[in-house]
Amino acid sequence: MRAINFSAGPAGLPLPALEKARDELLDFAGTGMSIMEQSHRDKPYESVHRDATERLHKLLGIPDTHTVLWLTGGASTQFALVPMNFLPAGKSADYVMTGVWSEKALDEAKLLGTPRIAATTRGPDGKYVRVPTQAEVQLDPNAAYVHSTSNNTIYGTQFHTMLDTGKVPHVCDMSSDFMWRPLDVGKFDFIYAGAQKNLGPSGVLVAIARKEFLQSARKDIPKIFRYQTHAEADSLYNTPPTLAIYLVRNVLEWMEGQGGLPGMEKRNRTKAELLYGTLDRLSGFYVAPVEKASRSVMNIVFRTPSEALDAEFVTSARKENMIGLKGHRTAGGIRVSAYNAVSVQDIEVLVSFMEQFAKSHG
Ligand SMILES: *Cc1c(COP(=O)(O)O)cnc(C)c1O
Repeated sequence: MRAINFSAGPAGLPLPALEKARDELLDFAGTGMSIMEQSHRDKPYESVHRDATERLHKLLGIPDTHTVLWLTGGASTQFALVPMNFLPAGKSADYVMTGVWSEKALDEAKLLGTPRIAATTRGPDGKYVRVPTQAEVQLDPNAAYVHSTSNNTIYGTQFHTMLDTGKVPHVCDMSSDFMWRPLDVGKFDFIYAGAQKNLGPSGVLVAIARKEFLQSARKDIPKIFRYQTHAEADSLYNTPPTLAIYLVRNVLEWMEGQGGLPGMEKRNRTKAELLYGTLDRLSGFYVAPVEKASRSVMNIVFRTPSEALDAEFVTSARKENMIGLKGHRTAGGIRVSAYNAVSVQDIEVLVSFMEQFAKSHG
């Protein structure tokens, strides 16, 4: 039996994407080899690589001004590579602070230049329960770029309207909500997202870059760390994570069959409404700390009346085949990650468990 997986990442994958991989595992397209045993310079893998890129272009409607990069090292590596590439000596960059991941991004930038905090919603207890409004963000018109985090995986907050950075390039970490709905890619200069939340397995990261922005990047850094190197080589400069890209390809194909990004949005909104509706209805038992306007559709965080009950909630849910519900160690409580692969039915099972749990422990 498949587990009902609410893990924050690596997350569950859509079953059809895994079944396709299983069926092709020992013999990919009549080659007598699995996809991971193929040279990345040979046709079978090249066709998978191109197919994944093309499907991404089609699903997102990526404009010609932008290019797709398949990279390794996860989002954490981009925290360092972004300032290495885009923060020239003597310039500063604006960071919008909305959680643990933006703090990590800022820390890396500090080692390479002088980032500036353009806004922060960090509370006195060190926690974040909302994202800033546009009016609260004090942008420096001379900044090299603005860095924001679209969805805060740990605190369960999300930008529902993306920040307008004016003429300053916008760099956005979309690791935990990439492709949850249609996106106007043209508004961004550099988007990056680790695949293991909404898009595929760990081991590969997707970046979408404005070509002009890439050309403006620093060239006095090692070649392998320059985004432009990977762009010029169609992400085949060195050996890419072939198996991970193949699996992302399968997930993208599944997404198309689900009505593309409009289909994903409908499914994700239904799931979030079910969960937040339950939390609001049972607010005498469950506490949802995030301010309503900042509630994440992807990561839904809440707590019960005590830490002991939080732990019991997680243990009892596990007995009913639901895994990955424990909140992040820095935030505590319970976290439901309802990424693209989680179905409405999975959420319905969880909601009835939540109702039962509140009834028997309230
Ligand atoms: C998971 C996550 C990261 C870290 O990703 P790694 O692949 O582990 O480096 C960074 N930013 C956000 C928003 C995340 O959700």
